[in-house]
Amino acid sequence: MPELPEVETIRRTLNKLVKGKTIENVSVYWPRLIKQPEDVNQFCDALKGETIHDVKRRGKFLIFSLDTLSLVSHLRMEGRYGLYPSEKQTEPHTHVVFHFNDQTELRYRDVRKFGTMHLFQKGEEHLRLPLSQLGMEPFSDDFTAEWLLQKLKETSRNIKTALLDQKIVAGLGNIYVDEALFRSSIHPERPAKDLSFDEASKLHLEIIRTLKEAVDKGGSTVRSYVNSQGQIGMFQLELFVYARKNQPCKKCGRPIQKMKVGGRGTHFCPNCQK
Ligand code: ZN
Repeated sequence: MPELPEVETIRRTLNKLVKGKTIENVSVYWPRLIKQPEDVNQFCDALKGETIHDVKRRGKFLIFSLDTLSLVSHLRMEGRYGLYPSEKQTEPHTHVVFHFNDQTELRYRDVRKFGTMHLFQKGEEHLRLPLSQLGMEPFSDDFTAEWLLQKLKETSRNIKTALLDQKIVAGLGNIYVDEALFRSSIHPERPAKDLSFDEASKLHLEIIRTLKEAVDKGGSTVRSYVNSQGQIGMFQLELFVYARKNQPCKKCGRPIQKMKVGGRGTHFCPNCQK
């Protein structure tokens, strides 16, 4: 599933591709993707004539900012956007097509069909689900070590599960939580409320650093995103633990282990993360 850095890269790419384009009409081939409004015809009608002014991000959500509306889109596991000339044949698993008035169209493909789209009056999107329940943006000035420590004190869960909770910090997923915990030398099963101020400070710093490095790397894949017709892969961020089971730890050389924490596959170094 794309996490904050991937969604941020997709956002930047989409901004280059679709900013200023005006929607002539919309085709929806899998109505269950559209969560708001309930009536898909209403969704399509409302978007006619709207121009895309900006593509924003909140957590792992994309927000298309239009004239009077905001379209909130979550890619979940496999959702992908691609811009195509209108005459080009539609590929399988294309569920929503935004036809622009310049002979191009933005296509949403989703093999697993888990993605969601919500349409709101502009400005209302932050007051309504799903965005209204999201926690702190990691790149916000309000995300401080003190704030993080306070939030961790309020939960009885382990640190891995707490960091995956989008209601605390928005945008983190399995990869970047494992990486940030390794870089902070914190065991994923540690009770969140037991972290010291020093540990929470280190973790706070590593969350921002890890995400920022990934965003910076992601920026270089923009070209391939366009060329490979809407495909966007995981970035070539140097990972310390994620998907490195039994490979030597880059700090101490002992094998990285994998276990379940809160039902999620979790990679860690038992020697570096005590
Ligand atoms: Zn190690």
